[in-house]
Amino acid sequence: MDIYSNDHNLQEMFALPFGVKEIANLGGSKIYGNDKLNKKFIDAMSKHRTLKPVIGNIENLIERKKVSVGWVHKNIFSLAFMRLLNNFHICAFYSMQHDRIFILMDVNVTFGFASDDVIANLLIHELMHMGQSNKPSIFKSIFFDSVVAYYDFFFQNFFETSNPKIAKQYATGALKIEGSMAKGNLISDINKLTKLFESLSEEPGLIALAQDAAKLCYTNINQYIRLTQHYPYLMNAFFKAYKNMFSYMRYEQTRFTPGQELYAPSEIAAISSSIDKNKSKYYKMIKSI
Ligand SMILES: [Zn+2]
Repeated sequence: MDIYSNDHNLQEMFALPFGVKEIANLGGSKIYGNDKLNKKFIDAMSKHRTLKPVIGNIENLIERKKVSVGWVHKNIFSLAFMRLLNNFHICAFYSMQHDRIFILMDVNVTFGFASDDVIANLLIHELMHMGQSNKPSIFKSIFFDSVVAYYDFFFQNFFETSNPKIAKQYATGALKIEGSMAKGNLISDINKLTKLFESLSEEPGLIALAQDAAKLCYTNINQYIRLTQHYPYLMNAFFKAYKNMFSYMRYEQTRFTPGQELYAPSEIAAISSSIDKNKSKYYKMIKSI
């Protein structure tokens, strides 16, 4: 079938290779792929140090359509997913609604080059989100201590106080919130959880800022980004918490928009997955999905 004469939208697309088929439709944006692309992807990842040890599991996830590699109409890059881009040619995200990870790229991405690093890091990151969503108790057993440590560091940097007990309570609540995220409106749960901030500071302004951040990050990402631009102090507290956990952080690992951690602790495992040199716990998570 000649796809070019069949779909008007495709006229505007990056020249897609022949023999592709639609593998998903995300809010009207079609995603295309084929077995050849999957094979090239698996071959490249089987040589990559990060994913080599779990390549069999990755292959299995692709077969089960839990992980999908595809090309998209370029509109998808200019609109909704722009924010998720780590690199203008590749993006990846976990769709909770579809319970599926999409790795999307333009056709100029060639496996076997620097792009392999970007792809491997994006995939291991998204697999942590999927792990939390699919196997919450295993996620908790592997990452609870790191999640508590992160929150405690964040509180230390932001509120200038350490309170491991509150950090633990906060971690437990945040894990519960993330676990029920697919069900929808969580604002009242987030409000309840962030009330804990009141026992960490006597400054109403500081408490309100952290509470607004948690709420906006969930409800209005544009407003959230504006908030972080006004209060670099907030951003620094997130970054510094990772630096407290890992002395080593590369420049590109700082190019994320922190904040999701406040209600979604899987972000902590996801960000850590590309910073932490010892990958064994991340592999354990991947093997359980
Ligand atoms: Zn993430």
